[in-house]
Parts: sequence; C-alpha cells; structure tokens
Amino acid sequence: GAGDAEAKSYRVGIDTTYPPFEYEEKNGDYTGIDIDLINAIAEDQNFKVDFKPMDFGGIIPAMQAGQLDVAIAGMSITDDRKKVVDFTDPYFKAGLTMVVKQGETSIKSIEDLAGKKVAAKKGTTGAKFATEKAEEIGFELVQFNDSPAMFQDVANGNSDVLIEDYPVIAYAIAQSTLDLEIVGDRLNGDEYGIAVLKGKNDELLKKMNEGLANLKDSGKYDEIVNKYLNE
Ligand code: GLN
Repeated sequence: GAGDAEAKSYRVGIDTTYPPFEYEEKNGDYTGIDIDLINAIAEDQNFKVDFKPMDFGGIIPAMQAGQLDVAIAGMSITDDRKKVVDFTDPYFKAGLTMVVKQGETSIKSIEDLAGKKVAAKKGTTGAKFATEKAEEIGFELVQFNDSPAMFQDVANGNSDVLIEDYPVIAYAIAQSTLDLEIVGDRLNGDEYGIAVLKGKNDELLKKMNEGLANLKDSGKYDEIVNKYLNE
C-alpha cells in the first residue's frame, strides 16, 4: 500500500548553537525544542529529516541556493523573510531583549545605548533591530556569527550589551556561569516559524502545519517544550 512507499527525506537547516532550540550533545546528536518538534512532525507526517547545522546567517542563503528544503532555527517570522520564504503557523513566542554584564547599571532602555558598543548576531532580527537604531541613537554595532561568541564578548566586557531572543538568553544564563543579566522590557513580539523556500513547497508546508496542529492537539507539543523549559 501507499504506506510502504519510502518516506521522502528533507534537508533541514538548523542553527549550530542555539539552546534550548538546537544544539549538539557530547555524542554528536542534535537536540532541543526545534529538533524534537521537527522529528515529531516528520514522524506524524511520514517524512525523514537530514540535519544541516550552520551559522544562522547562512540558512536563508543556503535555502535560496537549493541546499536546504526546510529551516527550523528559532527563526522569527518577518515580512522581510516572507519575500523569500513561506512560514508555517507560529510555533513559539520569543521576542528580543537586551543583556548586559552583571552589575552594569547604565543600560535600562534602548535610549541608554547611546555611545555604547552593541553586539548582535549576523542575519538575525536582533541585528536588524540594532542596525535600524544605530544611527538614530548613536551606537557602535558589532556582529557575531554565533550566539555563544556574542555572549562571551559581553561577559568579557568588550561589548556593553547584546540583543538576543529572550528564551535563548534566559536559558543560557540559567545553564551556565555566564555573568550576564537581562535588562529592560522585551523589545518586540517575535514569533518562530518553520520556513521553506517561497512558492516551491506548498505540499511540504501543508504537511508541517498539519503535523504541528496534531502535536498541539495530542499534548506532544507541550511535552517537548516542557522537557527543555520548566516554566
Ligand atoms: N529569532 C531570531 C531571528 O530569527 C534569531 C534566530 C537565531 O539566532 N537562530 O533572527
């Protein structure tokens, strides 16, 4: 029967280091909320996944170059990206926040960034947010390829502040000895979606939305999120 047909395999772009959404375990396996979600969707919808970890900034270009079928990378749904990719329904509410070295008291709002050195990660909504504010407020923007390098730069006192997704930096602070703290209100209401190349993958997009809805109905979605975040 149809069920015997070999399941199609899709190349799935993931961020190399983005816990709790995706990261590599010591044994080399990938793990995290995004990994468990796409694996569960694939199981529900009968397809296979082949993970391709890379710097976040390289994911959409790789997709446009035909090297990826899907991206799940804590990727925020934005109008800019919608020009080149199609997103599934949102699956996680994140939002950007500012982070400083513990004890730094001069930064509480975006206006306080005047004259400061601000770190962001290439290709992210955080970098876009900072780029748009840099001239108006008057600060220097430094861009990193990955989140751990950016966190370290602020912890070392090189950059004064970084902009990152709230759940990611909250997890990093809780799980590590990084001397960092979150300051101010969330800067936006970014939501994550799974992406495919625009206009080329309607069937796959439909499968992923169905899978996502099934996981939400069955309680599996909550189970996955709660495995990594105990809120
Ligand atoms: N959510 C942010 C974005 O979409 C950051 C994603 C990431 O760094 N993996 O730009």
